[in-house]
Amino acid sequence: MSSRTAVCLLSGGLDSSTCLALARREGYECYALSFDYGQRHRVELEAAARVAAFIGVREHRTALIDLRAFGGSALTADIEVPKHRSPSEMAQGIPVTYVPARNTIFLSYALAWAEVLEASDIFIGVNALDYSGYPDCRPEFIHAFENMANLATKTGIEGRTAIHIHTPLIALGKAEIVRLAAQLGLDFNLTHSCYDPDREGRPCGQCDSCLLREKGFAEAGIRDPVVR
Ligand code: ZN
Repeated sequence: MSSRTAVCLLSGGLDSSTCLALARREGYECYALSFDYGQRHRVELEAAARVAAFIGVREHRTALIDLRAFGGSALTADIEVPKHRSPSEMAQGIPVTYVPARNTIFLSYALAWAEVLEASDIFIGVNALDYSGYPDCRPEFIHAFENMANLATKTGIEGRTAIHIHTPLIALGKAEIVRLAAQLGLDFNLTHSCYDPDREGRPCGQCDSCLLREKGFAEAGIRDPVVR
C-alpha cells in the first residue's frame, strides 16, 4: 500500500472530524478508526459513522474494547459529568471526564492497523490549547508515542516505514478549528461533542465539551447547527 495511506482516529466529535477532513484534503486514503469502549455517550459512534461516510473514507472500523473494566472516568463509570464550569475552572487540574490512558490505547490500536495496512501515517485530532487538561493531548506525549511506535513495530525496525503521528490541530484554538472545519466543508450537523447527551442524543449545553464548542463557534462567528 502507498505511503499516502493513513489511519485516522475518529470519535465523531468536532476535532477528530476536522482532522479526518484535513487528512483527506491532503490526499491521504483514510482508514477511520472508532472505538466502542463502553462509553456512556454511545451516540458518538453514530456520529463517527455519519462523518466517515460524509468525508469519504476507504474503510471505517469500530474496535470493541471495554474500558469499563477499569472505570475511573465520568465517561466510563457512574460518575457525574461536571457542568457549568468556567474557563478558569476547566484550566485547573485533570477533570473526571479524562479516561485513563485512552489516547495511549487508541493510538496503539491505530498503530496495529497501520502496521497491517503498511501505512506510515496516523492522524489524531488532539488539541493542547482549548483542551480540558488531558495529559495525553500534549505534544510531549505524541512525540514519545511516535518514538515508541518506531521501536515497537516490525515495519519500524526493518526501516521500511517510519511511523508519523500527525496532530494538525494540536496548536489551534477551538475557534480556529471551527473556521478550518468550515473551510473544509465539514457538515457540523453530523458531529457530536457532548459528554452527557439526553436520550435523543441532543447535547446538554453545560458540560466542558459543550461549553468549549459553544465558545469556539461564538469566537469564529459561525452558527453551530447542533444546539438545543
Ligand atoms: Zn454537553
